[in-house]
Amino acid sequence: MSDATITEAQVRECLRQVNDPEIGRSLAELDMVRSVKIGAGNAIQLTIELPTPAYPRRERISQSISAVVAGSLPSAGPVDVEFTAKVKGKQTGGAIGLKAQNVIAVGSGKGGVGKSTVAASLAVGLQMCGAKVGLMDADIYGPSIPHLMGVNHRPQIVQQQGPEGQTIERIQPIDASGIKLMSIGFLVASDEPVIVRGPILHGTIQKFLQQTNWGELDYLIIDLPPGTGDIALTLSQLVGLAGAVVVCTPQQLALLDAVKAINMFRKVKIPVLGVVENMTGEVFGRGGARKKAVEMGVPFLGEIPIDAQIRVNGDAGKIRESFSASSPSRAQLLNVCEQTAIQIARTLLETPSMPTLEIL
Ligand code: ADP
Repeated sequence: MSDATITEAQVRECLRQVNDPEIGRSLAELDMVRSVKIGAGNAIQLTIELPTPAYPRRERISQSISAVVAGSLPSAGPVDVEFTAKVKGKQTGGAIGLKAQNVIAVGSGKGGVGKSTVAASLAVGLQMCGAKVGLMDADIYGPSIPHLMGVNHRPQIVQQQGPEGQTIERIQPIDASGIKLMSIGFLVASDEPVIVRGPILHGTIQKFLQQTNWGELDYLIIDLPPGTGDIALTLSQLVGLAGAVVVCTPQQLALLDAVKAINMFRKVKIPVLGVVENMTGEVFGRGGARKKAVEMGVPFLGEIPIDAQIRVNGDAGKIRESFSASSPSRAQLLNVCEQTAIQIARTLLETPSMPTLEIL
């Protein structure tokens, strides 16, 4: 072993050989190396910036770095890797003043498959990982997000000063333990049937996106109504979405609806981030959604078991408890959040900007 002093440049050169295990490109190419410091005894201190705080098993990166450094720089001391995260996005909300890096639509071909549960779980999981998250319930036919999140009051209208000193009204989203929440359900009484015509719906969604004080968000998750493409179309006209997550159950019949949902998103030019199989287990079977995802050429984002506790937590407005250390579904729920965040980072590299559809 030589005791020559190693340089920052040598370390950076060495890091060119290290690939990001999730995205499959080098750390240099992904611009993930934030700082390199060489200390006494050639100890190496690195800061690596991840594309999402929901990055799974980041220790794989430190292990590859240590192995490559040990192989290429024999005089190097111990390697210490510190991680930070910065979520990047298409930032296409600018035209309507929305400062969300990534807007994620959660959809399904039909109701009752757990779409809202998955949307709320994505919000909770990503926030628990450290992301700034908003959750917008656009499921006009069954707005259940406030209930799932244990919210029982309405948002307030606040008066603010506009750019020319004029007074403007803005909607203050509900703070659900750090998640900014808005629901179309706040507009309608929960026991009334909902009849809203297309143009009104379009205007309402626009208003929710535009006039709500979302602030700066890493992820804005939108729970869509099942089946229909109206709101998806409206969204694709207003912002360039990071993509859509399609939720389905494993049995054949439900998968046909998922195929319709995927085709619907494709038609309105919203990239499909992937499919989540929900309620996997003895009742509905397992693996159907993964197979269908492969067939359709879309990523599979994971499965969530059928778990009575998920239903109980949802009913009680305590969806966060499905992520507690004692929850049997914690690992699978977190996996879906991580895979979604990674897929967004991947999609961003492939299609950094996406045109929004023309407003008709
Ligand atoms: P959707 O939004 O598709 O209509 P919901 O999220 O409202 O569906 O879920 C429908 C019902 O299924 C709810 O009672 C919910 O608690 C329950 N549920 C959702 N996912 C699961 C799961 N993985 N295990 C058990 N029950 C679930």
